[in-house]
Amino acid sequence: MRVIAIGECMVELAPVGDGLFTMGYAGDTFNAAWYLRRLLPVTASVSYLSAVGTDAVSDRMLDFMAAEGIITDHVQRVPERSVGLYLIQLNNGERSFAYWRSSSAARLLAEDATRLDRVLDGADLIYLSGITLAILDADARSRLMASLAHARAAGSRVAFDPNIRPSLWPDTATMLQSITDLAAGADIVLPSYDDEARHFGDPDPAATAQRYASHGEALVVVKDGPRPIVTWQAGKSEHHPVPVPAAPVLDTTAAGDSFNAGFLASYLAGAKLSKAVSAGTSLAARVIAGPGALVRSAVEFAT
Ligand code: ADP
Repeated sequence: MRVIAIGECMVELAPVGDGLFTMGYAGDTFNAAWYLRRLLPVTASVSYLSAVGTDAVSDRMLDFMAAEGIITDHVQRVPERSVGLYLIQLNNGERSFAYWRSSSAARLLAEDATRLDRVLDGADLIYLSGITLAILDADARSRLMASLAHARAAGSRVAFDPNIRPSLWPDTATMLQSITDLAAGADIVLPSYDDEARHFGDPDPAATAQRYASHGEALVVVKDGPRPIVTWQAGKSEHHPVPVPAAPVLDTTAAGDSFNAGFLASYLAGAKLSKAVSAGTSLAARVIAGPGALVRSAVEFAT
């Protein structure tokens, strides 16, 4: 089993009090890759396809990925650029984020079509998100979509989380069209209902599932926070209740990313849809009981 996640990992600065911050690494597709690495057997490989700079902070990020078991062979080094950064701020218990990512190296991850084809060739699962698409310019997006289509034709499966972030896109029409196009060429689409309702105007999660299903052949799994997950597969819709987490909800960062990883690891191992959904919701329940995106206590490495 060869898994390739595509996107941007950023430096995270999280407050620890007295104006001090700790440094970590996170980013939606990277978070999912990190959870997948822990869930999948050691015989599986999990690679990250991205780009970083040639500076010391980029070196540290790559060292971190490698130490976590993620293959970094497909992270390109781009001189003159560096990694993106975000800062978590706490105001009366409410978290807000400030980003410095507009000229990060990761924006250049899809400059070379031949390289994309070579890296994706033979992958069993390719995982990406709407954020992966949003950080690319129009030409790079087209190159990536063409390589994905190529890989799919050769037997790879593509899983896509629309993760709609308007601030990263040039305009709304491009955002909605690009997300729709990518989803139409994916095998598994993993949207979150609140994003979809806000930007596509879906009246309920079943409408989200149906909309994505109508564009292609994909299995659609719609997350909706503590409310039931709605799946759509081969014309059949199902509701799957989300169990009340055993531990109180502390921080919902990476709820969707960890759900996706739990779901995909189980589904690709051959589990039935409802069992794979439970694997996703039970991992997400443990992740939201801990702080930050990468919650070590939520998941041990598989053997
Ligand atoms: P995203 O992080 O992409 O917005 P959601 O908020 O829909 O995704 O959450 C993803 C999954 O995490 C849900 O399907 C559910 O399993 C779990 N989850 C999120 N919030 C809660 C919550 N408050 N209580 C229980 N489970 C939750």
